[in-house]
Amino acid sequence: MSNPFPLGQPAFVSDVLDRAAHLRTDDAKLMAMEERSTTRAHVVHRDSLLVKHEEGGPRALLTIKEALALGANPGTIFLGLRDGAAVFGMGIGAAAVDKLVGRTDAGLAELRGMAMQGQLPVEQLSAIAMAKSMVNWHQRHGFCANCGAKTAMSQGGWKRDCPSCKAEHFPRTDPVVIMLVTRGDQCLLGRQKQFPPGMYSCLAGFVEAAETIEDAVRREVVEESGIICGDVRYYMTQPWPYPSSLMIGCTAEASSDAVTVDHNELEDARWFSRDEAAQMLKREHPGGLFGPHPFAIAHHLVGRWLEGHS
Ligand SMILES: [Zn+2]
Repeated sequence: MSNPFPLGQPAFVSDVLDRAAHLRTDDAKLMAMEERSTTRAHVVHRDSLLVKHEEGGPRALLTIKEALALGANPGTIFLGLRDGAAVFGMGIGAAAVDKLVGRTDAGLAELRGMAMQGQLPVEQLSAIAMAKSMVNWHQRHGFCANCGAKTAMSQGGWKRDCPSCKAEHFPRTDPVVIMLVTRGDQCLLGRQKQFPPGMYSCLAGFVEAAETIEDAVRREVVEESGIICGDVRYYMTQPWPYPSSLMIGCTAEASSDAVTVDHNELEDARWFSRDEAAQMLKREHPGGLFGPHPFAIAHHLVGRWLEGHS
């Protein structure tokens, strides 16, 4: 098998846990695993993680005892096994978060910033993404979408059941296409208003109901930039826990040149030469422009194209 990550790894894609899904229905075993000394938990609050501050940096993998002592909610989500040891996801309420203010030994730290600065072990990022998406899903699905009754967690956190209408609710993943559009030696990059000044990245958008990935790529590109695309090729995917997307990385070949930016979606979009795109990835662009961080799949779409792949 060829190296799937010629440019290094984007976040959240490697060192995945053994999900051990057969254990989700075994409540007695899950409870026993919570008690084991080898068991660990990631505690999530919105876009942040509960961490212990230690000499070597923040530690986001806590014992269940530590998590509970810091105020995490007792409900656990079984994420899976690493080397036979259980890893759980947990949430923490706003009142408990308030009590952490001023503590020097522990507190909340923003996931994206820590990951981008390499403060978290890369091998933990996939499980952290799972914890973040799952905790967020439970927080937003306390009531049945079918009848409005209060739902209850089951199957180690991988299902919510409605006691009233008996509907079963499962966590969802939202597919997003993210694409590098190229034409000869140029690539199309855009910037959203909320990007840091100078940053450009690949265009992206949600796949809609009954839409193929290829059609979603062509539709998003023409909507946002007016560019018409022909061939679309799949490269790789990246789980993106904001809150629960799957980024589907593609390349697309443009068959038109004139960019018309949809300013509701983007602040700007334009063609960049190979040289400029290379400078932007290396953060050496003379105009101070820069591309996406290696943390994100967009960096790898651009980098791979620069290496000569289509
Ligand atoms: Zn219901």
